Amino acid sequence: MKEGRSLRADIHSFESLAALDGEGIRYCVFFTGCPLRCACCHNPDTWFKSGREYGSDELCRKISRYKPYFKNGGGVTFSGGEPLLNAGFINETGALLKSEGINYALDTSGSVSLTNEVMTAVDNADMVLLDVKFPNAAMYKKYTNGDFDVFLRFADYISETRKRVWFRTVVIPGINDTERDIREYAQLVSRQNKPERYELLAFHTMGFYKYDKLNIKNPLTGTPPMDKEKLNRLQNYLNGLI
Ligand code: SF4
Repeated sequence: MKEGRSLRADIHSFESLAALDGEGIRYCVFFTGCPLRCACCHNPDTWFKSGREYGSDELCRKISRYKPYFKNGGGVTFSGGEPLLNAGFINETGALLKSEGINYALDTSGSVSLTNEVMTAVDNADMVLLDVKFPNAAMYKKYTNGDFDVFLRFADYISETRKRVWFRTVVIPGINDTERDIREYAQLVSRQNKPERYELLAFHTMGFYKYDKLNIKNPLTGTPPMDKEKLNRLQNYLNGLI
């Protein structure tokens, strides 16, 4: 491995041997910092710096120890927070990982500007897990405080580059859990290349305690977890539309 790289990034936490965020066995790196404030966020603790910085060399060495587990399409997933706020760092680390024969996936909200660094990080990723937060500008603003057009430009870039992509949407009771909502999501993604997967995820309340701990107002206080049977019905409905 080449040494002497310089960029550093603040990292919230790691999860080794994860199986959900991409193909095969994953090593997940959760960056701090996020441009959004999703009402349903279960990791508000990633919004703030953790105070633990890593250099790209150090991170690559840490990840490389898990290389034997990355058979069958496994690898690293850069997540967060929003990993693409650290696109330059990901590019350095990704180059080091590539020299070790390790690929990476990006788990992103796509709510970032398409700078050269961001496009390079996308281009070099093996695949992208893209959160389709809400299907229109009004809901996107209301429930994430983000700019829908920024997301659309990012999604269009993913489509243009024919990147392998899995879409994901968190379904929240009373907010985006009707067939009408699902039709709007299907219509939105119909402008993109067909994803390998489009997965609906159940809103849950396991992160609620973090809002209390951080003394942040939880916008979804009182909202129940998403009913799994209803979610399955909506997933089947979505599958029939895309
Ligand atoms: S993009 Fe993810 S980390 Fe950021 S606020 Fe939304 S759910 Fe939380």
